[in-house]
Amino acid sequence: MEKEEHDVVVVGAGPAGSITASVAADRGLDVLLIDRNPEIGVPVRCAEGVSREIEKYIEMDSRWVCNPIRGVITYGPEGTELIVTATDDVAGYVLDRRIFDRSLARDAARAGAEVRVKNRAFDVLKRNGKVCGVYVNAAGEEVRITADVVVAADGVESRVARWAGIDTRLRAEDVASCAQYLMCDIEVNSDYCEQYFSWDIAPGGYAWVFPKGAHYANVGIGISANFLNGTSRIVNFLDSFVHEKFGVEGGDNILAKIYGAVPLSGPVYRTVTDGMLLVGDAARHVNPFSGGGIIVAIQGGQIAGEVIAKAVREGNCTARRLREYERRWWKEFGRTLYAGLKVKNYMLSLSRTDFNRFFRSLNGELKLTEYTERTLMKEIAKISPKKMMITMLIRTLIPY
Ligand SMILES: Cc1cc2nc3c(=O)[nH]c(=O)nc-3n(C[C@H](O)[C@H](O)[C@H](O)COP(=O)(O)OP(=O)(O)OC[C@H]3O[C@@H](n4cnc5c(N)ncnc54)[C@H](O)[C@@H]3O)c2cc1C
Repeated sequence: MEKEEHDVVVVGAGPAGSITASVAADRGLDVLLIDRNPEIGVPVRCAEGVSREIEKYIEMDSRWVCNPIRGVITYGPEGTELIVTATDDVAGYVLDRRIFDRSLARDAARAGAEVRVKNRAFDVLKRNGKVCGVYVNAAGEEVRITADVVVAADGVESRVARWAGIDTRLRAEDVASCAQYLMCDIEVNSDYCEQYFSWDIAPGGYAWVFPKGAHYANVGIGISANFLNGTSRIVNFLDSFVHEKFGVEGGDNILAKIYGAVPLSGPVYRTVTDGMLLVGDAARHVNPFSGGGIIVAIQGGQIAGEVIAKAVREGNCTARRLREYERRWWKEFGRTLYAGLKVKNYMLSLSRTDFNRFFRSLNGELKLTEYTERTLMKEIAKISPKKMMITMLIRTLIPY
């Protein structure tokens, strides 16, 4: 078996892994970034929507942007419409993740990281019970890679952290099963992302139409996995929605079909151990309210890269040293993710009647000075019936 040594090995070249690798390499570390797939950014398992908040963390490149959007329209079960816009003309973007992910990996390479595709980690290496590397299958060859820090950036199906003894298992109710079609030649409102909430369309979840341009959109559905069984398959829900919304049937107008999962559990309790750190979906850094994980993957990756660089320089990569990462992500976005979890649990606890009543109140227009998930949740809390969620939400968000 071949052997290699690096300061850091990052498993998974999605946004979380590439940003972590970029930041650590930029600070002079010897970083290896690997992905099991033969091509970075493919397959795209994402609706590709982000709010403009992304600009706080990364310099936007017009080549990633398929379509700038003015806001989001949320349709309730009885046809109510809540139009949320920002005071700026642009509230967010529908990205091209193929280009976006590849570009982030290229930035990591430019910063000095070594990037390899078709490299699948299949176990962690331990010394005295502490993580000190990974075993990788590199296009058929097994390689033993030692590193001061292993970064588990291997997405929703993450195994790396589990091999190290961190429990990242998800219960059915904490996973959204998703199906999405990339559709063309359909009538879409290219100025707005649309979300459809209804027990008939998407029990325990929602359907979406995220426009990638005129007549071109990601059309998908996400349903809490515990609402699905053998007879109610996710594609049946999506096909019904597509038929109802666009009058399309039998696979017409579909350029790509994708299936995936979103972790909706809120962050895992432990995101560091000796010699290892978890980022992005692997750490369950996704807002359970919206299913959005791109921006938090970037935020978490930046913090992770900085902390790793300091820890390696100090020659101290113990869990105790790496805990700075946990303190910082908690401060930066942890509370928002927990608030999102509370909102999701609240919505799932509603009876059908209360669910409809809740959406009846979300009717009209809402202009946000700053379009972020935090401001959106705060505003929705204010207008929900009888302040249904307020106490709970404000209590969680007030420290901001
Ligand atoms: C249908 C769907 C729609 C979504 N829509 C949105 C949206 O509109 N907006 C939003 O913000 N978020 C959305 N998300 C969530 C978003 O896609 C994720 O939160 C984001 O991609 C997380 O980035 P990541 O880097 O943590 O993981 P990923 O992007 O999943 O990257 C993980 C990488 O790890 C690699 N990998 C896995 N195991 C190994 C291994 N053993 N060895 C080597 N490599 C490995 C994989 O190949 C993959 O490239 C959506 C998710 C789904 C499924």
